[in-house]
Amino acid sequence: MNVLKFGGSSVANAENINKIALILQSKLESKKLVVIVSALGGITDALINSVQLASKGDELYKTELQKIELRHLEMVKQLIPVAQQSRVLSMVKQHCNEIEDICNGVFLLQELTPRIKDRIMSYGELLSSQIISARFNYGGFENKWVDSRKIIITNSHYEHAVVDFELTNKKITDYFSAAEGSFFIVPGFIASDKNGITTTLGRGGSDYTASIIAAALDAASLEIWTDVSGMMTADPRLVTNAKIIPHVLYREAMELSHFGAKVVYPPTIQPVMRKNIPVWIKSTFAPEHPGTLIENTSVKNGGHVRGISSINKIALLSLEGSGMAGIPGFSKRLFETLANEQINVILITQSSSEHSICVGIEESAADDAKRAVDEAFDFEIERLKVEPLIVEKDLAIIAVVGDKMKSHPGISGKMFSALGKNGVNVRAISQGSSERNISAVISSSDVKKAVNVLHEEFFETAYKQVNLFIAGVGNVGSRLLAQLQQQQHYLQKNLRLQVRVVGIANSKKMIFNEKGIDLQNWKALLKEGDKMSLPGFIHTIQSKNLRNSVFADVTANEKVASHYAEILQKSVSIVACNKIAASSSFQYYEKLKSLAREFNVHFLFETNVGAGLPVIGTLNDLLLSGDKINRIEAVLSGTLNFVFNNYNGKNSFAAVVKQAQDEGYTEPDPRSDLSGVDVVRKIMILARESGEKLEMEDVVNEAFMPAECMKGSVSDFYTCMEKHEAHFRAIFEKADSAGKKLKFVATYENGSARVGLQEIDPNHDFYHLYGKDNVVLFYTNRYTGQPLVVKGAGAGAEVTASGVFADIIRAVRI
Ligand code: ADP
Ligand code: ASP
Ligand code: MG
Repeated sequence: MNVLKFGGSSVANAENINKIALILQSKLESKKLVVIVSALGGITDALINSVQLASKGDELYKTELQKIELRHLEMVKQLIPVAQQSRVLSMVKQHCNEIEDICNGVFLLQELTPRIKDRIMSYGELLSSQIISARFNYGGFENKWVDSRKIIITNSHYEHAVVDFELTNKKITDYFSAAEGSFFIVPGFIASDKNGITTTLGRGGSDYTASIIAAALDAASLEIWTDVSGMMTADPRLVTNAKIIPHVLYREAMELSHFGAKVVYPPTIQPVMRKNIPVWIKSTFAPEHPGTLIENTSVKNGGHVRGISSINKIALLSLEGSGMAGIPGFSKRLFETLANEQINVILITQSSSEHSICVGIEESAADDAKRAVDEAFDFEIERLKVEPLIVEKDLAIIAVVGDKMKSHPGISGKMFSALGKNGVNVRAISQGSSERNISAVISSSDVKKAVNVLHEEFFETAYKQVNLFIAGVGNVGSRLLAQLQQQQHYLQKNLRLQVRVVGIANSKKMIFNEKGIDLQNWKALLKEGDKMSLPGFIHTIQSKNLRNSVFADVTANEKVASHYAEILQKSVSIVACNKIAASSSFQYYEKLKSLAREFNVHFLFETNVGAGLPVIGTLNDLLLSGDKINRIEAVLSGTLNFVFNNYNGKNSFAAVVKQAQDEGYTEPDPRSDLSGVDVVRKIMILARESGEKLEMEDVVNEAFMPAECMKGSVSDFYTCMEKHEAHFRAIFEKADSAGKKLKFVATYENGSARVGLQEIDPNHDFYHLYGKDNVVLFYTNRYTGQPLVVKGAGAGAEVTASGVFADIIRAVRI
């Protein structure tokens, strides 16, 4: 005997039922089959909805019932030859009349009991199974319809009835040993109590019906046909990269389904496991796919973790109190109280001091649990030995499952470090002594991220996905996007990183796409985007709650920088090209650094000094390896270097500045370069990174610009420089006549920093510094006579973008 079960989507419409016929055809030739079917997909929900409307006095239930009837009538018309339809149509009519009669009663009384709900739900499977049976009988597959209410006997715990296996097994074997024929069709999900009143086995219970029958009949196999090609490493609705597990042990399948893998109803595994009956999970829509085999023998496939599952809508109950320590019976009373309320405990943890017990239950039962437990511990609560029950809602459980986890150290370490790095706060942990699963209670809002993080950690050896949000798509930002697009393939192949740009904003518009914005077309997409709102952009970064998220600030905007703290607090790394945060108050700079540490993310700003040159990285490496910075001497303004390299006293100073701006070497407002303020920021950042508590006003700035030129607009600035051409010429000629070059130099030594124009003689390291280059000399305990020199292009969109790019990669690789 072989037992097959077809779920709701497999029997949802005539087309799908014809697919089932193809699957059964070859099997029927050689085997005796029992086929269990669910209600047509969506019908159980529709029935519940109708009777609930009726119980609330809402007449809309009638329209809902009409839709249910119509769907079944249509199905009959499509599946059964016209000449034979009348008998089946009248069966459908009769059942639908009964449903309506019951709903009318519920409407009048405005009361709905679990017993009536079970009765109403049972019509879903009664209708589907009889239509399908007729379809096969008229289609040449002779079969017998079996009323499962006659062979599966339960207690009277409606909606979640408990099977009386002794009676049920006997009824099943008696029936099938006496029955003639080799093909039986059975409605799933429904049963009856000893008084013949209809009960149900719990939502999703048709799987269980099939397992009960398979076990009672010692079937050769149980096949569960559904809409996915097997049990997967994670819920495919949450994890797009979830993969089919070819082999899984009964115990693993049981844990995965207990913790939410909906593809198998949790109690299903027990009966077939006891009889060692192999279970196949297969897809009606891809019957050629081998599917998943659930069995008793361990087959090597993959790592130590078999799958990850999750259950939403969980409440955590905590019973705490000093009076609990060492006194036996507290937990017994807690669990008894919950059991008496028919509340199912999903997860338990107890602290070793025995001062608290935590249990995870379905959120819908939380209020009943609170009432019952507080009542049960009334005496102790009054005497302050136990606190009233603490109930936390909006939680979820995630579980990592695998039979071989016990023999492999480090899995929980990996699990919790991956969750921690992504800012998933763990409320409670439970690891069974079998070590077959490690489960954790987390916030509902983190489920999708957590499951994806864990899936990536344990299954996606192919690559790690990085979710990038970029603010600012001017010169640097757009170069960055071009580089990201060009390097996509390289990053995947060599670093196993899949970088998705999921958000882009400029000052006017913003766009998001969780699947990754098309980088070939981002300009057009952004043009069509939503109106930019900075709080909106930041809020979306936070609420999307994506794993491995990085925010790249490629603006020069103060407001953007003011949001960094809240971004880091959501465990999103920040890569700032924007200098404002790192050069704002020391307090804010410190706060951001400590938030990054606290939330396990990165706050990187390499491009704040020397564009793409590895200046901050080098400094950090020196300090990390135990060196000490004694002095820094640097030319840090690509703009000023360009200006003084190109100004020869014959051309106009203003024209050279304009050229620098036109070529993209200046800050958006060139005055912050010319005033030396930009260099002040940079040397201060280097001093801070060397461990100095410096503020902007602590840095001495020997400005060379006429003060008058620094007021007004940018165009006033150019006019003013023209006016003061003689001033610039004098500075130039003084240096030139002494055979020296002008460089704007920043120094940090003995706790103080200064910036100013210096005349550099030909022997100095700075003399041969051309174009827009920067140079930094680090004098340290190790580099004493000869400094460590970092030199190269210190401005320009392309190199700056590559520095931002490198920071992004650094943020997600470590
Ligand atoms: P049926 O109606 O056939 O009983 P279900 O909807 O009950 O089907 O179960 C199949 C669905 O379970 C799949 O479509 C999938 O979305 C969901 N699912 C959740 N977790 C898993 C998992 N780990 N593996 C496979 N499917 C899963
Ligand atoms: N029809 C029932 C439900 O939707 C049982 C099942 O499909 O397994 O819960
Ligand atoms: Mg199901």
